[in-house]
Amino acid sequence: MKIAIKTLGCKVNQSESDVLAALLINEDISLVAFEDQADWYIINSCAVTKMSEKKTRQWISRALRNNEKSQVILIGCYSPLYIRQFPLPQPRLQVIDSPEKIKKVMEILNLPWDESFSSKVIPETERARVWLKIEDGCDHFCNYCIVPHLRGSVRSEEPEKIIRQATHLERKGVQEIVLCGINLGMFGKERENTNLIELLENLVRVTNVVRYRLSSIEPFLIDKEFLDRYFSLIPRACPHFHLPLQSGSDEILLKMGRGYTTQFYRELVSSIRKYDNEVAISTDIIVGFPGESEKLFTETVEFCQEIGFSRAHVFVYSPRPLTPASQWDESEGVPSTIKKDREAKLLKIIRDGQLIYYRSFIGKTLSVLVESVNGNQDVTGYSENYIPVHGDGIEVADYGRIIPVFINREQNGILLGKIIQNRKSVIDSH
Ligand code: SF4
Repeated sequence: MKIAIKTLGCKVNQSESDVLAALLINEDISLVAFEDQADWYIINSCAVTKMSEKKTRQWISRALRNNEKSQVILIGCYSPLYIRQFPLPQPRLQVIDSPEKIKKVMEILNLPWDESFSSKVIPETERARVWLKIEDGCDHFCNYCIVPHLRGSVRSEEPEKIIRQATHLERKGVQEIVLCGINLGMFGKERENTNLIELLENLVRVTNVVRYRLSSIEPFLIDKEFLDRYFSLIPRACPHFHLPLQSGSDEILLKMGRGYTTQFYRELVSSIRKYDNEVAISTDIIVGFPGESEKLFTETVEFCQEIGFSRAHVFVYSPRPLTPASQWDESEGVPSTIKKDREAKLLKIIRDGQLIYYRSFIGKTLSVLVESVNGNQDVTGYSENYIPVHGDGIEVADYGRIIPVFINREQNGILLGKIIQNRKSVIDSH
């Protein structure tokens, strides 16, 4: 049996697909590329914007066309919505609307499902950087966000399981693990005696994985104790925080139900920079939220200029079913041409700030996880503070390793430099 898996959306989806791939490989299933003729196509979908829904539907059509005898299984966040939008059964398509998606896939494929094995499974990945899902769900219910409605409330993995997985990944030679979740900072909320920082300390203590990164953490879940403990883990914890801002306007933040103000965010970034002024701060921003006037958008632009993000994902707002914002008066909506203009304008502002940040590392050495060994000037990998770097002198054997690169210039948003001959210095320092 040949199976192809397509993953859309966030890193949590990617991590779940990696687990599914590991289970299938354990059953001697041959995993093939999506373009190949597979017997089954599994699409792990996203519903965070209208565009993600559209893309998922396109992948379903493509899978059905690839092989006219194939079957398609749809899993992931879009599944419950897909059933609402297309309630009638469709030939060759099965939609799994259940948090136990992996178990259900195994059932449909008529493959054994063993809960105890699944709790030991190590994500299957060809990538140098591994995303390890440690938490699912969110209890925050921001007014625009469909995710808690689809993923449910916070569920954290057992710390022992996470440590076991990280230890296995270390044995496979993985040098960077990114801890991910839907609302990662909530890890451990429903368990006793654990939380994110404690887990991170244990991972650093028990394993020799060179570095750990947090995929994202909500600003309102960080306090001084967290920062004290986090910074004592650097360099094993990456000097990089992804703090979703969503808007730089207090009025819009309030309407979004984010629970903080720009002043709170400003003070948080300033306390982080007191520990280390070179730490990367990246973010997510939504433009065109209902009620976002030109004046309020300008507040976001100015706030982004003030903070100087190292990178940002800019999303164009689209109303999501089940959310309060989707019920609001349509007159508050921002026309789509204005939304597009704002997206372009903000991306330019972010890019300007990003280049200032990147160029501040010219003349310094960064530790780069090698993810590509192309000889040309492509990105070799990402530094500890998540800057794309090309290192001259890369060798095929360097794939997956963390090596020091002395940065000498910036070109097209990539830092260029030379690999330092004494490569072992970074790898063996842990
Ligand atoms: S914190 Fe807000 S934006 Fe993030 S997943 Fe939860 S509800 Fe969605």
